[in-house]
Amino acid sequence: MVKEQLISRGVKDPLVLNAFRKVPREKFVPLEQGDESYGDFPLPIGEEQTISQPYIVALMTEALRLKGEEKILEIGTGSGYQAAIIAEIVKEVYTIERIAILAQRAKKILKELSYQNIKIKIGDGTKGWKEFSPYDGIIVTAAAPRVPESLIKQLAKGGRLIIPIGDLYSQELILYEKKRGRLITANFGGCRFVPLKGEEGWK
Ligand code: SAM
Repeated sequence: MVKEQLISRGVKDPLVLNAFRKVPREKFVPLEQGDESYGDFPLPIGEEQTISQPYIVALMTEALRLKGEEKILEIGTGSGYQAAIIAEIVKEVYTIERIAILAQRAKKILKELSYQNIKIKIGDGTKGWKEFSPYDGIIVTAAAPRVPESLIKQLAKGGRLIIPIGDLYSQELILYEKKRGRLITANFGGCRFVPLKGEEGWK
């Protein structure tokens, strides 16, 4: 997976590649999909939700340009895989999932794998998690019509936020960087995610 799907497509950050070598993706995938855990595609995880394609997880993680000391917020815990990848690199990960059964399953797997730097909350992630803000990085793993204002507010100065923006069928991965009081954007290309449902997402 690392060589054929990530390095071949230009993922270079050694911290990201190393995290992919460490996290056992098969643990986050339902048993019946087990054989396909390392395939080059997203997989269903129940409740009409998905675990993203490995390359998209890597692309979004690399875009945050992590060094190791950061506090990161993820919106859309899903299986917990993306949170585990980030937790291999940084100090603290906060992750929010709106579907309780998915959050509970992710919590159990992450505990079994002994992750101690991930906190999970059930709720509407479009409002962020104010208590632990500001965040050095925010990653939204569901598709939004626009970037939620609450997340921009909870992003630290110099922080980066990556989010798929578009309609319900196709989106672009947009990186926002808070620099000298301004938001700088960069486009990381097309993608397709399940919708971000909530007060500052899709109703
Ligand atoms: N990051 C996940 C992983 O590694 O498995 C994949 C996430 S899946 C593509 C998108 C997730 O976002 C779904 O589990 C969905 O329930 C969740 N979601 C959608 N809207 C949300 C919201 N407002 N707050 C929190 N989670 C939300």
